[in-house]
Amino acid sequence: MPWDVLTDEQRELRELVRTLARERIAPRAAEIDESHEFPWDVVELFREHEIFGLLFDEEWGGTGTGMLMALVTIEEISKVCATSGLILAVQELGSLGLKLAGSPEQRERYLPRLASGEWLCAYALSEAGSGSDSAAMRTTARLEGDEYILDGGKRFITNAGVANLYIVFAKTDPEAGHSGISAFVVESDAPGFAVARLEPKMGIAGSTTGELVFEGCRVPAGNLLGEEGEGFRIAMRILDRSRAGIAAQGLGIAQGATDYALEYAKTRETMGKPIAQHQLIAAKLADMETKCEAGRGLLYRFGRMVDEGAPDRELTKASAMAKLYCSDVAMEVTTEAVQVLGGYGYIREYPVERMMRDAKITQLYEGTNEIQRLVVAREMLKEQRAFLLAGVS
Ligand SMILES: Cc1cc2nc3c(=O)[nH]c(=O)nc-3n(C[C@H](O)[C@H](O)[C@H](O)COP(=O)(O)OP(=O)(O)OC[C@H]3O[C@@H](n4cnc5c(N)ncnc54)[C@H](O)[C@@H]3O)c2cc1C
Repeated sequence: MPWDVLTDEQRELRELVRTLARERIAPRAAEIDESHEFPWDVVELFREHEIFGLLFDEEWGGTGTGMLMALVTIEEISKVCATSGLILAVQELGSLGLKLAGSPEQRERYLPRLASGEWLCAYALSEAGSGSDSAAMRTTARLEGDEYILDGGKRFITNAGVANLYIVFAKTDPEAGHSGISAFVVESDAPGFAVARLEPKMGIAGSTTGELVFEGCRVPAGNLLGEEGEGFRIAMRILDRSRAGIAAQGLGIAQGATDYALEYAKTRETMGKPIAQHQLIAAKLADMETKCEAGRGLLYRFGRMVDEGAPDRELTKASAMAKLYCSDVAMEVTTEAVQVLGGYGYIREYPVERMMRDAKITQLYEGTNEIQRLVVAREMLKEQRAFLLAGVS
């Protein structure tokens, strides 16, 4: 067996997920893309096989197998279907607020349902006028008796209409900038809450992306996450971890495309030999594989950092680098996979055009790659590094 960074136990778990992906999800991927319908059958499969549990501690009914295995799982599922991989990445994104800042009562109420997959969740930060500049949000929340009243709207929210709970960010003090933002748990049946519309998209077609409306939406005061004014910090702490899930999705798409292109190149013949034996195609395959492996290095390192208790301040740069690199690799590699298949790469009968469309979103959501570059550079500027060339003129 080839050398592997995972332990024997982790490899066994990966094998189980891989088999499920290959046998049960891969045959559905093209249909999910064509139909633009949310794949409830995949959710059911994840529930039956306790796949959601891979994202949660044992205390909440999960497997307690840690961040690295959660990322490996998202990668393996995304190799065959990016929409299905996203279901897991967003279950992590939507539950991280509770894991990091939830009160004991909030965790008790929600985390077991999320770990079993009985409930799906969502993370609602972006608005029509505020994506990268999330602190410019307009949604407000005010305390009235023992309830908060939310007014405003959110845009581009993954799992809109299928989630049972939404982590929603709103301004409790509109004059206070970042420190006027608070986070709330909003259940889907909260009075005054509605999903206004779903967006047709380029890729991840089975995933819902929608607009949320809050019109005098009432949530119990006990649904405030953390303290008033802590919302922005919570939102960023969540993204510092969840971005790695998008990196895993991107890496999975890239590796899936590489594997497919390799198999194709071994059998498609031109000028009397398989195209894999033409040096220009062989070079493409080598670059695709190398980029995937480099992305995996960044991603798994991040997984280990979390599992080994690295401090929050070190996670920011590591997750931004993993997300930035793996998503750029996803776009580059899927574009090359289409090229390797020639004209066949461009038609729906083959999966690489879907992979190319699916790859694009990984460079955009959970912070665009321009924002990731700003984050990495900002963290570099904070570091106290020994500069070896100091004094050299
Ligand atoms: C399919 C999909 C699913 C999504 N899911 C969710 C979700 O579940 N929850 C959620 O809250 N949001 C979600 N989003 C929103 C997503 O995170 C935002 O679209 C993204 O952060 C970019 O924001 P924007 O679209 O407003 O672009 P803008 O912020 O308007 O950016 C436009 C362009 O300007 C660049 N730019 C902006 N500011 C700077 C700067 N300071 N320096 C350099 N370049 C800059 C950007 O990189 C981008 O290229 C989703 C979006 C999509 C399309």
